[in-house]
Amino acid sequence: SSVSMAAAPMLTKLQQDCATPLPVLRNVAASMSDDIRAGLAVDGGSDLKMILSYVDSLPTGDEKGLFYALDLGGTNFRVLRVELGGKDKRVIAIESDQVSIPQELMSATSEELFDFIASALANFAHKGGNFPGKKGEIGFTFSFPVKQTSIDSGILIKWTKGFAVSGTVCIINFGFLGLTLWSSFITEHMLRHCLAHAGKDVVACLNEAMDRKGIDMRVSALVNDTVATLAGARYWDDDVMVSVILGTGTNACYVERMDCIPKLQGEFSPSRRTIVNLEWGAFSKGLPLTVFDRDMDAASINPGEQANSSFNIFEKTISGMYLGEIARRALLHMAEEGSLFGKSVPEKLSMPFVLGTPDLSTMQQDGTEDLHTVGSVLYNVAGVETNLSSRKIVLEVCDTIVKRAARLAGAGIVGILQKIEEDTKDAIFRKRTVVAMDGGLYERYPQYRRYLKEAVAELLGPETSQNIVIEHSKDGSGIGAALLAATNSKYG
Ligand code: ADP
Repeated sequence: SSVSMAAAPMLTKLQQDCATPLPVLRNVAASMSDDIRAGLAVDGGSDLKMILSYVDSLPTGDEKGLFYALDLGGTNFRVLRVELGGKDKRVIAIESDQVSIPQELMSATSEELFDFIASALANFAHKGGNFPGKKGEIGFTFSFPVKQTSIDSGILIKWTKGFAVSGTVCIINFGFLGLTLWSSFITEHMLRHCLAHAGKDVVACLNEAMDRKGIDMRVSALVNDTVATLAGARYWDDDVMVSVILGTGTNACYVERMDCIPKLQGEFSPSRRTIVNLEWGAFSKGLPLTVFDRDMDAASINPGEQANSSFNIFEKTISGMYLGEIARRALLHMAEEGSLFGKSVPEKLSMPFVLGTPDLSTMQQDGTEDLHTVGSVLYNVAGVETNLSSRKIVLEVCDTIVKRAARLAGAGIVGILQKIEEDTKDAIFRKRTVVAMDGGLYERYPQYRRYLKEAVAELLGPETSQNIVIEHSKDGSGIGAALLAATNSKYG
């Protein structure tokens, strides 16, 4: 129809701008490898922080005993207890609980907040009947930016970027972290984008709270969620070398040889290994970007703060928080300049973040002939009336954004694998090697998964890609943290 005719060239332009042919992917993978090396050489050496996890003994399967995990992120935390029975019995029992943090504690002191967490942990531990006489050991997953100096300490680092989402806005104060949020909803990911000014050791905070309450438990390991996922997957499978989270935000980590980390500044035998956290959301090289990405990026940066530099642009291109928003911006442009939805522009389409990544996924699963689901999603979330030809264009827009995202994520994974292959003589390409994946985006967007795997296969070629297994490791981070408490046990 004439409606979609006007928007068609705009779709073509979008597809060109988002194209990820093999040379583009090769360049991204190579740049990822280079940035990894540069970040391992010296702190501040590249976009990638290459944060040392201090996890240098990985789960083997031999772990035995009762261990706890505590996962603190956003407005609730999860506690988990696992009983490990060694190689034969593995996981004997596992229990978990979710606790929401009362509103008033959000602006309380760190003592009050950690007292609350300690009490909840004690209640949970008592319910299961602890082993008498043995201290409960905790793996603490704390996925905010912390500067670790050992496996069991971490200082919150200053985070100077603000994140502002228009729409319904509420302000929540995490007083204990010196951290303020402007948001219509809180996720761990949004916390990462907020202003933090604190310098507290979060492990000491929790241990002191447990002392005050007379609770016989200790934090043995402080870990990032990606690191916990790798540990959890490795417990079941010795071939796991890399883990990637693709949820609201994204991150990756892998097992590196200590003698390949110059910034460690020590002599290490090649057999000594440690997990390194890339913080790969900050990667920025060779990405095919559109005006919509640049506008979204500009809108997310705190005015006055490095206005010309983009922030976490890889994360913005590939993770769940943003894909719906990029599509919305493209659709709004096509509505305004190409009459995609007729003469008038649907008002709600101007609202930032009104279209979510789950909406894109729902639309892309539509199997009906008249694209009925696409029509109702557009109507329900953005008040948009559509005909078949405009629905087809909308689907193409979704596919374009998601395809670029997933293929770039795939190229990033290949960049990590190539770095390991080139530097460690492990010959990971000639034997089975596993990449453990987790996160709502990867888990619940079939097209994303397919495009990611296709890109990895294209880059590696048919022979090598048979050895690289990209595997979903569902909720491995909880048990992973408990396992790291076990491998880093203070009491043997
Ligand atoms: P986290 O917020 O800790 O990353 P998850 O790993 O569960 O939590 O990821 C949630 C994210 O996954 C959501 O923000 C959304 O972007 C994405 N997501 C959730 N459901 C779907 C879906 N059905 N299709 C596509 N993406 C989804």
